[in-house]
Amino acid sequence: MENTEKKYHIWTSGCQMNVADSRRLGSSLEKLGYGFTDQAKNADVLVLNTCVVRQSAENKALGFLHSIRPLKEKNPDLVINLMGCLVGVRGTEKLQKQLPFVDVFSPPSDPGPLIAYLSQDADYVAETNATRNRFALMDGEIRIPEHERGKLVSAFIPIVYGCSHACTYCIIPYQRGIERSRPVEDIITEARSLAEQGVKEITLLGQIVDRYGKDLENGENLADLLRILNDIEGVERIRFLTSHPSYFDVDIMRAVAELDKAMPHFEVPIQAGDNEVLENMKRGYTQEDYRDLIAKIREEVPNCSIATDIIVGFPGETEEQFEQTYQLLADLKMDVAHLARYSPRNRTVSKRQMKDDVPDAVKRERFHRLESLQKTIASEINARLLGETLPVLFENKVKGRWRGRTSTNKLVFVESDDDLRGQVLPVHITWTGPWSMQAQMLTQAPSPIILDA
Ligand code: SAH
Repeated sequence: MENTEKKYHIWTSGCQMNVADSRRLGSSLEKLGYGFTDQAKNADVLVLNTCVVRQSAENKALGFLHSIRPLKEKNPDLVINLMGCLVGVRGTEKLQKQLPFVDVFSPPSDPGPLIAYLSQDADYVAETNATRNRFALMDGEIRIPEHERGKLVSAFIPIVYGCSHACTYCIIPYQRGIERSRPVEDIITEARSLAEQGVKEITLLGQIVDRYGKDLENGENLADLLRILNDIEGVERIRFLTSHPSYFDVDIMRAVAELDKAMPHFEVPIQAGDNEVLENMKRGYTQEDYRDLIAKIREEVPNCSIATDIIVGFPGETEEQFEQTYQLLADLKMDVAHLARYSPRNRTVSKRQMKDDVPDAVKRERFHRLESLQKTIASEINARLLGETLPVLFENKVKGRWRGRTSTNKLVFVESDDDLRGQVLPVHITWTGPWSMQAQMLTQAPSPIILDA
């Protein structure tokens, strides 16, 4: 029999939130009867879930959009859905004119427009339109798309949509809208439904995840939420990101220290180490505040790991100011540093009011200096783990080796013919590098001793 099932393909770029949104959309499409294809050229519905945090990400999205245009010319019935931060939350009239071959435009985290477009059910369309942006399609229950079902070990759960902080360089608040926390019941339902489908690890997402609940009346905060989720059967590990230094409080640190499932790894971006640059970025803290925070985290959650984000070449950043960032990273010795070169973004304060005056070559040179510093730091930190036995949650096999993570989020590769997927197993660390480690399975556990009656 000929397979007449219509197919969808989702191209996803950018942050973890987009990964979560794409999976949610895939789940909704499968409810409508569409099946997954990993080939854009075979799709009847083609979704581009986009990122514009830096110009390079925007170029990537526009490049892919350009590359699929011939598909639409060949097959006018193909439905093209542009989603995410390239679309934003402010209406789509201009984009519709610029991109006439796109059929549907969807704001970030909103499967509504596509589902409404595809659905022939007028009531359903009216309902999704009426409830758009009120989480109508995000209400918790999620059926993992078929191609990932039974294989997905670790999944993201958005808990705060949007952002109201307005760092001067950042486009996200403009594209994702104001901060909205998701009702706690929806998050619990989603975590339960993921766990029932075999997911072992959940990572809670928000641009400033520590602000969870601050916009809800008498709402639970992030620490409360961690305590609630810790009781869900089947969930073995809980993580969250991204934290903001001004909102990451002791309550959250203590919840992590106290809860067995909350993992001791934090993502707390500094962005710059110089106070004037931090002020120009409108981050709301000083480098001294940040140093105190890191010391406090390490005191409350010993043996934790911490990642940071840094932007080099922000407008006006002098060599001396950059050296403050370098020194801060050298002093604090973070486990991971995500580095980026400043990229002016439309509508942001830094683009409108400041000059992008650090030459690209200088940005690149600063980037490389931090990168090589971080390589040394991470090598040293990880080398201390050599010979240790650590529990690792295994996710998938990559080039013949099982890939997993320690509780502190470090990547570990192990050779084994067994099916390790979804298991937390102690392994013996045999090699460490700056970005990953290798380990061996412990020798077969001794069989249980059974005494004769
Ligand atoms: N809400 C999170 C994540 C934001 S986006 C936070 O506040 O940290 C992820 C990272 O991209 C940021 O931490 C920042 O380091 C970087 N970034 C954001 N805007 C940028 C820009 N205009 N140019 C270069 N990097 C940028």
